[in-house]
Amino acid sequence: MALVTGASRGIGRAVALALAARGARVVVGYHSRAEAAGAVVAEIAQAGGTACALGGDVARREEADALVAAAQERFGRLDVLVNNAGRTRDGLLLRMGDDAWREVLAADLDGAFYCLRAAARIMLRQRSGRIVNIASVAGTVGNAGQANYSAAKAGLIGLTRAAAAELAPRQITVNAVAPGFIETDMTSALSPAVRQAAAARVPLARFGRPEDVAEAVCYLASPAAAYVTGTVLVVDGGLTMGA
Ligand code: NAP
Repeated sequence: MALVTGASRGIGRAVALALAARGARVVVGYHSRAEAAGAVVAEIAQAGGTACALGGDVARREEADALVAAAQERFGRLDVLVNNAGRTRDGLLLRMGDDAWREVLAADLDGAFYCLRAAARIMLRQRSGRIVNIASVAGTVGNAGQANYSAAKAGLIGLTRAAAAELAPRQITVNAVAPGFIETDMTSALSPAVRQAAAARVPLARFGRPEDVAEAVCYLASPAAAYVTGTVLVVDGGLTMGA
């Protein structure tokens, strides 16, 4: 049974669909878009899978804890947590207000920590579990205009490695996936000129699809990756190779 946070759209939606297609019962986590989350659940059911939607703001500890507890209660166990919920609020460093800094750190890093900690308590009892954190190449190379987001994603990679080291003795793996430019609402806000310039920098010459990231997540959540922990799988069309 898998909990995917931020699964109402974009990468999280593709991950939920892909895990369900591989037979996992899936909890579709969402923040504000209950209807979109319901549509993902319906799509999974139509394909013969089992899913339900659960709301909550992962940036708030009580809500993150309640989300993980409800997910576990719904299906009786928790095998996979995909920490995918995230947001951006871009701006140049010198003009970045405290609120923009805090909001992004709260959603992208605090939220992942709260869900990971709550899930680890359950997985430690089970003596098994898979945790996949959706980071970003912004966290490995840094992006101008994204000091808050880059810091959150770099922190998420550090959290991934520390948690992997702590949880390995109980056969719980913790890995990260670091996408580059992926076609979602998050990147559709970019102007056509910026999108074109960005795609031109990608050796594979296109933005990635949410499904490209979902395949990497499914691998890390699968039995095939039983001996893989503490790693960062980069899915960026070659954008940061050699960096
Ligand atoms: P998206 O289309 O903007 O979707 C974001 C998802 O996160 C939504 O389901 C949203 O829920 C949920 N969410 C946001 N804040 C939340 C909160 N506080 N609590 C619970 N859920 C919350 O984003 P995306 O592009 O698919 O990105 C998904 C993940 O991949 C993020 O962590 C992002 O940083 C990372 N990533 C994306 C790209 C890219 O190019 N797109 C690249 C690298 C990394 P609602 O819809 O219900 O509000």
